[in-house]
Amino acid sequence: KPFTDFQLSTPILEAIEQLGYHTPTDVQQAVIPVALSEKDIIVKSRTGSGKTASFGIPLCELVEWEENKPQALILTPTRELALQVTEDVMNIGRYKRIKATAVFGKQPFRGQVAELKQKTHIVVGTPGRVLDHLERGTLSLEKVKYLVLDEADEMLNMGFLDQVDTILKQLPKQRTTMLFSATFPQDIHQLSDRYMQSPKQVEI
Ligand code: AMP
Repeated sequence: KPFTDFQLSTPILEAIEQLGYHTPTDVQQAVIPVALSEKDIIVKSRTGSGKTASFGIPLCELVEWEENKPQALILTPTRELALQVTEDVMNIGRYKRIKATAVFGKQPFRGQVAELKQKTHIVVGTPGRVLDHLERGTLSLEKVKYLVLDEADEMLNMGFLDQVDTILKQLPKQRTTMLFSATFPQDIHQLSDRYMQSPKQVEI
């Protein structure tokens, strides 16, 4: 099935073509239609499977350009992954002028705060820094309709469970949640039980 079989608009399809993606990977085949229909999904897969685009493509499609406050939140375990995901999302959303902002620790707040004051559709960050911005009032999550937990097992391995929990409690209940993880220890199941609604489960 080619990308043109999904319900994607021309700007997104053009960006995909420019990135040189001809055929959706297995994880993209599985995730894109579910995400576009705004249903929760749990994905067991690892890096290198094309998972970033599997959520990046539907997010870029679904967010409304006109809204100034963030509509999607992507949590990652590391700053490296946050930067990579931000870059990938900006490439996918290029022709729709999608703005993604990365927020992570060990970097001054000032630049991130300035970016968050501008229009931003998608915020990508590590749990600690996202929480810091929430507590300082420099990040609004009231318009978030889409949540991605990327490498969820790694986030919990790094001790982020309480922070993830605190963030998720503050998100609007009416939203779509996508959880990606290579392994499924008990605390991941607890997170999905608590914060997801009848998620579809796929293993790639
Ligand atoms: P990821 O698993 O998201 O880290 O992606 C792994 C690599 O696959 C990245 O370099 C992507 O740019 C690339 N990629 C993602 N989707 C596709 C696709 N459909 N066709 C070819 N390459 C892809």
